Amino acid sequence: MLHHTPKEIHERKALRVNPAKTCQPIGALYAALGIHGCLPHSHGSQGCCAYHRSHLTRHYKEPVMASTSSFTEGAAVFGGGANLRQALKTIFHVYDPDVVAVHTTCLSETIGDDIPTIVKQAKKDGIVPEGKIVIHANTPSYVGSHVTGYANMCRMMVHYLAESTGERKNQINVLPGYVEPSDMREIKRLLAVMGVPAVLFPDTSDVLDRPQSGRFEMYPKGGVTVEALRSTGDSQKTLALGRFASEEAAKMLQTKAEVPYALLDLPIGLAATDRFVEALVELTGEEPPAAVSDERGRLLDMILDGQQYLYQKKVAVAGDPDHVIALTEFLVHMGMVPTHVITGTPGKSFELRVKGLLKEVNPQAKVKAASDLFELHQWLKNEPVDLLVANTYGKYIARAEDIPFVRFGFPILDRPGHIYFPVVGYTGGMRLVEKILTALLDRIDRDAPEEKFELVM
Ligand code: SF4
Repeated sequence: MLHHTPKEIHERKALRVNPAKTCQPIGALYAALGIHGCLPHSHGSQGCCAYHRSHLTRHYKEPVMASTSSFTEGAAVFGGGANLRQALKTIFHVYDPDVVAVHTTCLSETIGDDIPTIVKQAKKDGIVPEGKIVIHANTPSYVGSHVTGYANMCRMMVHYLAESTGERKNQINVLPGYVEPSDMREIKRLLAVMGVPAVLFPDTSDVLDRPQSGRFEMYPKGGVTVEALRSTGDSQKTLALGRFASEEAAKMLQTKAEVPYALLDLPIGLAATDRFVEALVELTGEEPPAAVSDERGRLLDMILDGQQYLYQKKVAVAGDPDHVIALTEFLVHMGMVPTHVITGTPGKSFELRVKGLLKEVNPQAKVKAASDLFELHQWLKNEPVDLLVANTYGKYIARAEDIPFVRFGFPILDRPGHIYFPVVGYTGGMRLVEKILTALLDRIDRDAPEEKFELVM
């Protein structure tokens, strides 16, 4: 399908071909699902909402709920205030959520709908029942990416819900970043094992990976509660995992409730997980329990066992910025050589950080934010690699160039099961090493002549 991608590269400024990102509301919708009893609401036309829901449903293999303001031509001309009022009436009457999290779309942003004023009036008019909550985030899709939308919704959770009573609680806040429900579950497990009471928000575990019960539940048992969100203003500290997805919310908590924050990478790989564990050790003053040290030791052992296949292998990586930064560091520590590294999300700090990580091992590496998969494909044609790590869309490039391929990040639309296995923490690192080694060894098997087709690797 991509066999006609040309090798010659022409500088492009405005045009994106085969983007390595999707639109802001998808991230905002995903974050909102991490609040217990919340119905995400898309303030725009039905088409946007249908696309956002289906994209998330295809990734999570779960029905993703969201309502829409259902704009038509009238709303485009006169504004969507009446549509939102009608939508809120229907939502509380029919679906009865505790929270409605409104995110905007390109159209409502272009019109300039003032959501707080519309909601304020709706409350005055009794459209929002007593005790029910409406929050909102501005998510114009012509800037940023789904990661920006996620970060915006997290920030607005703090804006609307965090409260400070003046009394500090024995707990910290953890912003897990735009990661899978299984990753959030793994971060919570590590916090529990390390003995650190924490509010993790948002939390999509037991929402988008809930067990099959045979019954449809509009609001599954998972998600951070409103009460817990309110208490974030009384926490001792916030750990923001991933600059792009989490720092904005942490900053707002610091400004609003004087909760200091520390910015860490997503705990993907050995060193990044070490830093996360060290941050927890600093809080408790206690050494990590043996169970955690053993997990680390197993990951290290696995990397050493696979060293002859990993060492000096060239890798191309595409994905969301926080994921790609942490993975690049992990690949370097495994002895591999990241050669082309892109994200679709804009941000110069991404380029600076990744170039810093590659300074010693590959200063010539091509690194770019706000890039696209077409550009990555062109780079690969000019300088081939041994492995491509990307979301599902990468498989077309892998096929065209015959490169071993590992699916990583969002979205993964063509394989089931990925949402149940974390990539964070030492155990998540082991899964990544296994996936990378399997892809490389499968290629060796595929290409081996009869006499070199080995039983034992
Ligand atoms: S119009 Fe904007 S918000 Fe709607 S699907 Fe397209 S990019 Fe996303």
